[in-house]
Amino acid sequence: MAIYGEGILAPRVSKKAAQFTESVIRDMTRQALLHGAVNLAQGFPDFSAPEVLKQAARQAIADDVNQYAITWGAKNFRQALADKFSRQFGIAIDPEREITVCCGSTEAMIATQLALVDPGDEVIIFEPFYENYGPDAILSGATPRYVTLYAPEEENGEWRFDIDELRAAFNNKTRAILLNTPHNPTGKVFTRAELEQIRDLCVEFDALAITDEIYEHILYDNAEHVAPVTIEGMRERTVTINSLSKSYSVTGWRVGWAIAPPALTAAIRKVHDFLTVGAAAPLQAAGATALALPKAYYRNLALEYGERRDLLLAAVRKAGFTAYKPQGAYYIMTDIRAFGFANDRAFAEHLVREVGVATVPGSSFYSDPARGAQQVRFAFCKRAETLEKAIAKLAALRQ
Ligand code: PLP
Repeated sequence: MAIYGEGILAPRVSKKAAQFTESVIRDMTRQALLHGAVNLAQGFPDFSAPEVLKQAARQAIADDVNQYAITWGAKNFRQALADKFSRQFGIAIDPEREITVCCGSTEAMIATQLALVDPGDEVIIFEPFYENYGPDAILSGATPRYVTLYAPEEENGEWRFDIDELRAAFNNKTRAILLNTPHNPTGKVFTRAELEQIRDLCVEFDALAITDEIYEHILYDNAEHVAPVTIEGMRERTVTINSLSKSYSVTGWRVGWAIAPPALTAAIRKVHDFLTVGAAAPLQAAGATALALPKAYYRNLALEYGERRDLLLAAVRKAGFTAYKPQGAYYIMTDIRAFGFANDRAFAEHLVREVGVATVPGSSFYSDPARGAQQVRFAFCKRAETLEKAIAKLAALRQ
């Protein structure tokens, strides 16, 4: 009998799958469980979702919303998405032709790239990046081109790209640029001026912008979320991706969407259908309730996250990290040089095993691991008592 994985028979895997590794972030969650550490690695809340949403989901199942929804999304959910988009950005979208509901923004991103990008095309990605983007491009046959976001000199400064480096990354093979604002892992919120520079390049090179805006409501210090689709000239070349996961604290529901002009949507819908058929029908029904929540809900969400950010930011700085202040999303990127470890992996391993706090090693956010070798990322989407527990453990680093 062939015994796989023990050197007797080496199973063949696809060239695509061989080009990337398993998710480091999800692996750190497993390590946190293994060592009983406080999990500040993966970005999922450990507090309850809003009661109205849970009630709406229970009700939908009780009402027998138990069969497949329309493959590109339940009609009432798509209508709710179009209504929110128009309220928020003043842009009318056609729920019949411009929305594809997917299994999380994760599926929306891969379905979009599979639908719109060809082998030989290039996709521009800012780094540090959310670790799914590179594999998404590779699975689509495209070549990722990375452009650096530079850490600020000051802990409270902003991460920035160099416009000449960005321009140099664009060429006649560029099919798309992936944008994530507010940004994971840095907390950067792209400004209107930066987005206009990106627009100019997209227009010049006839490239698409595929935008991941799942932290759009998690903003601090009066930062403003500018949706790239609202920049003049971008409506026709933007795919706006989002999900229920972060805005409503339901990462396990797996409901997301891609909003794009009709011709692009038609292709995304086909790929989506063959990938997953559709997102959970009762949770789409509950999602319509989520999208109708009043402005006060989002103000409160940002306020509560602001308190968590301030708590953890002060604590990690006190523990000896250089910690960059995020303007959005719920992560703190840190520099660990003060601790004198050989690299981020050794340090993260020490933290999870000996200190009892799980983080994400910085190298997993870069195409060249050396660039993140003195960084780790903390997630603060946790209850105050979870953060306090982690903070008490981190104090051991100073002894
Ligand atoms: N995009 C970014 C930037 C993320 O940080 C995450 C999760 O942490 C995702 C996408 C995944 O989102 P979803 O749950 O909608 O698939």
